[in-house]
Amino acid sequence: MPLSPEIRADLGRFLSTVEASSGIGQGRPDGLSRLTLSDSDREIRDLFVRWCTEAGLQVSVDGMGSIFARREGSEDLPPVLVGSHLDTQVNGGRFDGVIGVFGALELVRRLNDLGITTRRPIEIVNWTNEEGARYSPPMVASGCFVGAHPVEWAHGLRDEDGVSIGEALDAIGYRGAAPVGGREIDSYYELHIEQADQLDRTGHQVGIVTHGYRSHGIRVEFRGETGHTGPLPMERRRNALMAGARLLVAVDDIGWEHAATGGKATGARLTASPNKAGILSDLAEAVCDVRHERPEIADAMRDRMLQAIQAACERTGCEATILDTWSWGGDIFDRELIATVREAAAALGYRAAELPSQAGHDAYFLAQRFPATMIFTPCKDGITHNNHELATPAMIEPGLNVLLHAVVARADRR
Ligand SMILES: [Zn+2]
Repeated sequence: MPLSPEIRADLGRFLSTVEASSGIGQGRPDGLSRLTLSDSDREIRDLFVRWCTEAGLQVSVDGMGSIFARREGSEDLPPVLVGSHLDTQVNGGRFDGVIGVFGALELVRRLNDLGITTRRPIEIVNWTNEEGARYSPPMVASGCFVGAHPVEWAHGLRDEDGVSIGEALDAIGYRGAAPVGGREIDSYYELHIEQADQLDRTGHQVGIVTHGYRSHGIRVEFRGETGHTGPLPMERRRNALMAGARLLVAVDDIGWEHAATGGKATGARLTASPNKAGILSDLAEAVCDVRHERPEIADAMRDRMLQAIQAACERTGCEATILDTWSWGGDIFDRELIATVREAAAALGYRAAELPSQAGHDAYFLAQRFPATMIFTPCKDGITHNNHELATPAMIEPGLNVLLHAVVARADRR
């Protein structure tokens, strides 16, 4: 049965969870720097698990460290999964990911208050390493959950200090016993700040996410040769740093060429070794991505990005190896789930807009195997991955209530 429209989430209780989270892994003023599987990540996980246990939920942790907290339904059916991530970027905000996990917690707390048992179980999830800030690629645990990546491979991914995901999971005690994926779920909902400025600009209170920007990312290694920066003639140089730099500049240019239609391209990271004055670098690693709302344009941008690797090698005499590629987005979200969000927003009387997601999210991987969708709240000027990220209580409240009503309608459907 759908909930009666006067039933609303307890905003004060929800805000107290966000406030507690804001004190764990503080970064720059008002921001968070809570990298995945760090000590501060352990601290927020422990708190989240305690709150879930206090709410009477059955907590399990899978082999990738993702945390599931289950509220049983009246029937033995696959659960509706609801969640997001508690890790942040190096200079992250207080709301990215956090409102999706604690929005789900508030949802089950509200059902507890009301003594309502849904037909299907509801499970809250906190995915490991959504951000990709410590381990590339991002959304790696939700990718493993749907079978897009082997778990063994993910355990072997290493951070800048050489610590693998497997070792980091053990270090914070979150290598769980539950199998990674391999089970049916009914559907997946994720509440998230928009991370763009459309809702804030147009005064809409909630975003019905209909599709995702098609995105293609790569991590590339360039190999050259060390040499003296003085005497070595230009034509004999094989400077890997310059190969990486040329690729990233070319990718940035691709973004500018498509800027008028909302295309984006990012040179995100360049490392080199030895990376010292006086010597040419023989090793470099570059991370970059392109994205566009229209899949065929995004695909063409990807082809140009791959050609730019070739051009960088030809100019610098280096060799390139593509270490990782990732692609996501497109018309991936489920029509029936989108309809539950649309209906909940209408029943609650909110001004809602239908819009795409421009950022990558765990929901993109879930959508590969299960019906999935997202709900967006506005955020101030679209500022995110920045300590000035802000979603006021008034900005979050409509999305929180839409999540509650849409999930219960889905969980109760006949
Ligand atoms: Zn996020």
